[in-house]
Amino acid sequence: MDNCIFCKILRDEIPAQKIYEDNDLIAFNDIHPAAPIHFLIIPRTHIASLMECEKTHQQLLGKMLLLAPTLAKEQGCTDGFRTIINTGRVGGQEVFHLHIHIIGSKNRLPAMIHKG
Ligand code: AMP
Ligand code: ZN
Repeated sequence: MDNCIFCKILRDEIPAQKIYEDNDLIAFNDIHPAAPIHFLIIPRTHIASLMECEKTHQQLLGKMLLLAPTLAKEQGCTDGFRTIINTGRVGGQEVFHLHIHIIGSKNRLPAMIHKG
C-alpha cells in the first residue's frame, strides 16, 4: 500500500523506534505515547483493520496477541498493561493498517469503559 504510513515504516521509508521484528510482525514505539510505555504491533501484510481479517489470518492474529505480553514485559510492564485495537470510524481508528496498541504505566491507567 503506497500511501500507508505503517507500510512506509515497514519499508524503512520513514523512521520508527522499532523494538521487535520477525518475518510476520514488527513492533515500534507510538510517536504520540499515551503513557510511559506505548508501542504498536503490526503485521507485515497490509490488512486495513480487524474488520478485514479473515479465517486465513487466524494464526497471524494469534501471533500478534501472544507477542503483546512478551514485549510488554520486556518494555517494563511488570504489573499489567492495556491492549487496544481501534477498528473503523466508530472505533476511532486513524491508521488503516491493523495494529494492536500496548499501553503501560507504573500507575493504574484511567478507565476506558464507563458503565451507566
Ligand atoms: P489508531 O487511532 O488506533 O489508528 O492509532 C494510530 C496510532 O499510530 C496513533 O496512536 C499514532 O500516534 C500512531 N502513529 C501515527 N504515525 C506514527 C508514526 N510515524 N510512528 C509511530 N506511531 C505513529
Ligand atoms: Zn499498510
